[in-house]
Amino acid sequence: MGNNIIEIKNLQVQYETSKGVLGGRQVVKAVNGISLDIKRGEILAIAGESGCGKSTLAKAIIKLEEPIQGEILFKEKDMLKMSSTELKEFRKHVQMIFQNPYSSLDPKMKIYDTLKEPLKINTTLSNSEIDKIIEETISKVGLDKDCLSLYPHEFSGGQRQRIAIARALVLSPEFILADEPVSALDVSIQAQIINLLKELRDNFNLTFMLITHDMGVIKYLADRVAIMYLGEIIEIGNVEEIFNNPKHPYTKALLSSVPDLNNKTEKIILKGDLPSPTELPKGCKFHTRCSHCMSKCSETNPNETIFNDNHSVKCFLYED
Ligand code: SF4
Repeated sequence: MGNNIIEIKNLQVQYETSKGVLGGRQVVKAVNGISLDIKRGEILAIAGESGCGKSTLAKAIIKLEEPIQGEILFKEKDMLKMSSTELKEFRKHVQMIFQNPYSSLDPKMKIYDTLKEPLKINTTLSNSEIDKIIEETISKVGLDKDCLSLYPHEFSGGQRQRIAIARALVLSPEFILADEPVSALDVSIQAQIINLLKELRDNFNLTFMLITHDMGVIKYLADRVAIMYLGEIIEIGNVEEIFNNPKHPYTKALLSSVPDLNNKTEKIILKGDLPSPTELPKGCKFHTRCSHCMSKCSETNPNETIFNDNHSVKCFLYED
């Protein structure tokens, strides 16, 4: 295990959904055999189009989705086999920041009560100890303690996301899942929240899993990035390596969408839409949209090719 805080092994998550007006059920294969380590103190980004399974992966880690197979180890303990007491402890150490700060805060609760609630439920601290933690936490996210007596509607979107981050921090977690934490905010505010997350990681040695489709945010904030396509990780590596030397044709297409001030990057337009996760293509899941597709690509799923400790890819173009 070494320095890993989370180890995910061969995780599979499926859920049923209705087939629309005709009724009936169909199975969404959202996460298909993911193995992944997250190192203590790093920011690991999970990137991919909407519908690639990245949010389902995050929900499985915090037990909002039940995997059908695989293991999720948190500090060497399989969270899928934890007792209710162990799970209560686990929930203190693992927190989530959601995309929309307008819906993630209770509009009827003052900020003080929003921050107090998790401490009351999960600890036996006295009221004065709780008040001290609340004041320290609100200061960590760059807000004044006067805001504690106000309601969410009295704040801007950026301030609300700071409050949502404070709520995630109040139990002193070790690991935070941030699901598109800036995509609902004005562009002018996004940089402030990105900088705040970076400061929190640097100052408090927090570990983050960052779910986002925004490659610009990943380049600035993350240490490593895993590229997801139809429930699989098809390329993973440190951010510098992936941005400077992408291998998988899908990663190259994603990166070509990042605005380039010098206009040097040729934009790669993918054929068609992401196939439905209810009807996964055989072979390499990307073959229906890949301009390099070979006959074996539609029959067999490629194995992982490892370039170095910091970079691996699943694509036949790199298999011996
Ligand atoms: Fe394209 Fe084949 Fe590589 Fe898949 S395995 S990305 S279809 S070349």
